[in-house]
Amino acid sequence: MSGSGEPRALRFAIIGAGMAGILSAIKLTEAGLTDFTIYEKGDRFGGTWRENTYPGLACDVPSHLYSYSFALTPEWSHQFSPGPEIQRYFERVAREYDLERRVRFDDEVKRCEFVDGRWQLETAAGHRDEVDVVIAATGVLHHPRFPDIEGIDDFAGAWFHSSRWDHDVELEGARIGIIGTGSTAVQMVGALVDQVAHLSLFQRTAQWVLPQVNPTISDEQKEAYRDEPEQLAELHSSLSQAFGVFANAVVDAESPEMQWIEAACRTNLEENVADPELRERLRPEYRAACKRLIISPNFYDAIQAPNAELVTEAIERIVPEGVRTKDGELHELDVLVLATGFHADAFMRPMEVIGRDGLTLEQEWAERPNAYLSISIPDFPNFFMLNGPNGPVGNFSLIEVAELQFEYVMQLIERLRSGKCREVAATRSAMEKFEAARVEAAKKTVWVTGCRSWYLDDRGIPATWPWPFDRFRAEMQAPKPEAFEYR
Ligand SMILES: Cc1cc2nc3c(=O)[nH]c(=O)nc-3n(C[C@H](O)[C@H](O)[C@H](O)COP(=O)(O)OP(=O)(O)OC[C@H]3O[C@@H](n4cnc5c(N)ncnc54)[C@H](O)[C@@H]3O)c2cc1C
Repeated sequence: MSGSGEPRALRFAIIGAGMAGILSAIKLTEAGLTDFTIYEKGDRFGGTWRENTYPGLACDVPSHLYSYSFALTPEWSHQFSPGPEIQRYFERVAREYDLERRVRFDDEVKRCEFVDGRWQLETAAGHRDEVDVVIAATGVLHHPRFPDIEGIDDFAGAWFHSSRWDHDVELEGARIGIIGTGSTAVQMVGALVDQVAHLSLFQRTAQWVLPQVNPTISDEQKEAYRDEPEQLAELHSSLSQAFGVFANAVVDAESPEMQWIEAACRTNLEENVADPELRERLRPEYRAACKRLIISPNFYDAIQAPNAELVTEAIERIVPEGVRTKDGELHELDVLVLATGFHADAFMRPMEVIGRDGLTLEQEWAERPNAYLSISIPDFPNFFMLNGPNGPVGNFSLIEVAELQFEYVMQLIERLRSGKCREVAATRSAMEKFEAARVEAAKKTVWVTGCRSWYLDDRGIPATWPWPFDRFRAEMQAPKPEAFEYR
């Protein structure tokens, strides 16, 4: 350890002003570390919730859990609140913590290079900064994935990715096509079917759907939460425990909890889809929760509406009038939405990151993204990721994940601040050992039971945390000294 032993003033760059960037700024401020700038390529706070504005967008984790633990609110309208309300929540929290003046909006960080113990940053606007510590809060589901279907540019109507919704396009009375059957598509189908003339859902893979009730939060209940905020804290904590059960179920494909989830999905399909032929076309050929589980209060009702059509024939190509399927049928459309997800492995890209001795992130991640505990990359000292590669993703609150990760990172930052060391990064052996254990554990999870999903990497290994959530909580308590190199 080669720190001076003298406390040191640290300057930080936080990249990204979404949920994790806001969290980082608040936590640094609370720790008295106020010399930081947040860089955000968008024009507002909110990240995911700024970018996704499609009809029907909602959290599929209860709102009282999908909230910062230090900024619980009695005001959520629903148990699972809609996207615009979540966006307003993040903007309000950022305002309350006076973060507006700390952020450079519309300025993308293009390059970070570690030179003589500090990170030199360059932005798209030509701004330069030199900092001691970088916190990359650049998001997971951020870069839209476009399907490889011929002819999209020939389409005569309006088309866009679900995360780039064009609100100028008239939907009233339109014939709309949606490609994809993930959570986004399912939410859109429920929200749009009553508004449009005709809705065609192009399904490559059927999905299991867990039923959901989404009650409004009554005024009396909100009043009670306002009067007794400890009730909110208790609710947050009990929801966290309950979702822990779900997180544990998916990492043990044979667990009783997993069997309960499967049974609930099967019953939902059997009891709520009347037409046996449609029911079979909606029946997946793999186990529930193998793909990210869909939770919906209205999908089966919506897809059985008279103006809705489930298209299971594969798409041949897109033509000016609509979508032609392999059976030769033309599905005429005015609007086409690509609900085809994101490049979940595009962490931090296309930002250029250069660590010690000229090692680039492209070289380090030539095979695929990797990091010790999703947080730290060997030879990229004083550079920490939130919601980085192979971390917990799934049907639980990523806010909770980021909060735990930040507490862990903060302990490393404290070593830098106290002068115990000047540079800290995970060791290569710690990362390799962690990755080997992770790959082994992943073999027992439900994600490898025979489906294609965005969780799987190029080897077919789920790029996720494969252990119970309690183990994640325990791991995040404190960095293991031997896992880090301190210089
Ligand atoms: C449709 C949808 C629904 C979801 N629903 C849920 C849910 O129900 N529950 C749940 O837990 N999670 C959900 N998620 C996941 C969601 O992404 C996370 O919960 C959370 O919002 C991620 O926050 P983040 O700050 O890590 O990343 P993001 O929200 O993606 O924010 C990253 C920010 O970094 C900025 N950025 C990236 N690169 C740069 C750069 N080089 N320079 C400057 N700025 C940069 C981006 O513009 C963005 O604003 C959902 C995601 C999507 C897409």
